[in-house]
Amino acid sequence: MVKRPEIGDTGRLFPKARKRFGQHFLEPAWVARMVDRMEVRPDDTILEIGAGRGALTRPLAERAGRVVAVEIDRILAAELPGLMPPNVHVVEGDVLDLDLAALLATERRPVRVAGNLPYNVSSPILFRLLGAAQGGSLIADATLMLQKEVADRLVASPGSGEYGVLAVQTQLVAEVDRLLSLPPGAFRPPPKVSSAVVRLRFRPPVADPGNPATFERIVRGVFLQRRKTLANALKPVAHQLGRDAGDLLRASGIDGSRRPEVLTVAEFAALSRAVL
Ligand code: SAM
Repeated sequence: MVKRPEIGDTGRLFPKARKRFGQHFLEPAWVARMVDRMEVRPDDTILEIGAGRGALTRPLAERAGRVVAVEIDRILAAELPGLMPPNVHVVEGDVLDLDLAALLATERRPVRVAGNLPYNVSSPILFRLLGAAQGGSLIADATLMLQKEVADRLVASPGSGEYGVLAVQTQLVAEVDRLLSLPPGAFRPPPKVSSAVVRLRFRPPVADPGNPATFERIVRGVFLQRRKTLANALKPVAHQLGRDAGDLLRASGIDGSRRPEVLTVAEFAALSRAVL
């Protein structure tokens, strides 16, 4: 079906926003605020996820040395190079299929990531970034537009209702700050939800998690039963790992009568190390 064209902010005709790609284009006033908060330097290389019509790409390219802009929509990806400054390199494709380490292999310094993310795939994209950051040596930081509820879960502290897998996995390898809160009207077309910009500053793990896959299994496993005591919530995953939950708690010095949702990231790491 041919989509009705509409005027983009560069004055050109663009196809209508495509829902299946989570296309909600950021209005200029909010573009300026988001880019300002990033404090881009001339020697930065920025990896932009979901360049869209280039609303963020252009101001980023005006401040940075280089922008690598990934866009899944073939029509937009084909338009962008002709509209953007020459220091923008457009990569057409699904960011979830890209080998980020290979894409960034020639960079001399850690890159900085930016993106007004498609909300339907924001969690898988976040996990890809967490896996690729390599303690800040490949990716220094990521400034991301997210659905407000996802941002709340990223910045959550132990004991709060939003604290869970996303907070623990993220805070293991990054400092997380909320930079901006945005209403639906900050985008065209407006999404049904509110949004927030968060910044992840990558660093080596706050505590040694032992085997990262074991850490992830333990965190996911106990949060499936977050209302139970830790002693009970840990049983199924400990069993799958061929270990006894009581032994793991004793070895890590953690009281099994506590609830999973009050454990700090360092305590989850201690539990994971006890499996080794
Ligand atoms: N950066 C633009 C802006 O702020 O106006 C567009 C943001 S829009 C919320 C998200 C963009 O990500 C869309 O252009 C969409 O086509 C693109 N996108 C969606 N899924 C993607 C994926 N898996 N990989 C790369 N880009 C994707």
